[in-house]
Amino acid sequence: DNLVQRKPDWIRVRAPNSPVYQETRKLIRDKSLVTVCEEAACPNIGECWSQRHATMMIMGDICTRACAFCNVATGQPAELDDDEPRRVADAVASLALRHVVITSVDRDDLADGGAAHFAATIRHIRAASPTTTIEILTPDFLRKNRALDVVIDAKPDVFNHNIETVPRLYPSIRPGARYYQSLRLLDRVKQRDPEIFTKSGLMLGLGEDRMEVSQVMDDFRIADVDFLTLGQYLQPTPKHASVARFIPPDEFDSYAAVARSKGFLQVSASPLTRSSYHADSDFAALKAA
Ligand code: SF4
Ligand code: SF4
Repeated sequence: DNLVQRKPDWIRVRAPNSPVYQETRKLIRDKSLVTVCEEAACPNIGECWSQRHATMMIMGDICTRACAFCNVATGQPAELDDDEPRRVADAVASLALRHVVITSVDRDDLADGGAAHFAATIRHIRAASPTTTIEILTPDFLRKNRALDVVIDAKPDVFNHNIETVPRLYPSIRPGARYYQSLRLLDRVKQRDPEIFTKSGLMLGLGEDRMEVSQVMDDFRIADVDFLTLGQYLQPTPKHASVARFIPPDEFDSYAAVARSKGFLQVSASPLTRSSYHADSDFAALKAA
């Protein structure tokens, strides 16, 4: 039928209404920023924003790709806003974040895929908030030659690029992307700067099987990926890919155990895990260890 599938009981979220949530929301409006929390209709927004944890999305809210799982609008994006890196850095300072996650739409229309804009955003945040750790979640820079190196050289603390799903499902779920390009990107970051932590993740429930997920984990370890996130895919609207299966919490636990045995430094696997979910507390815990 035409309805979004009913969610199982284990996908429960708190309504967003705390005072801190409202403050976070106001700041984001005042600085004219875009967040993936809103654009992706993330179920964790009540919890995250109540802790001032928002993931900024730079380079606009229109993407040049059309992934089958993603709620972000596809089309011809607007010109880059050169003042955006400064406003993002201002917001990070105002929120007094100890860890920030910055992501973006895909900008296949730009010669460098937006690499210089990413690097400028990292530099502005570093200047305004020297102790804040910076995590970026980037597009794949497909066919952008060495643009990626500009982002690596801006030295984020964590470089995240999501592989999203198993290679077999790429043509239907991530049609504009290439599995090996994403894997090579993660490998390239580590090769060029081994001090940067690398991170990637998958959405489960799109029709993948356990062997396939295990193979992706092995591919990640070959590329020296440090952190892994696994979460349940949720269908944002009836037009998007439907959920093949809701994976029960105990299966996520068992995936987490497999992942730990393969040597990831950090593993987050639960129905509501998103790549930026608990990224601040997880990273703080890692640094303290
Ligand atoms: Fe935003 Fe990430 Fe939290 Fe979702 S999990 S609300 S995208 S910070
Ligand atoms: Fe969404 Fe990213 Fe795909 Fe664009 S590239 S449609 S923002 S997942």
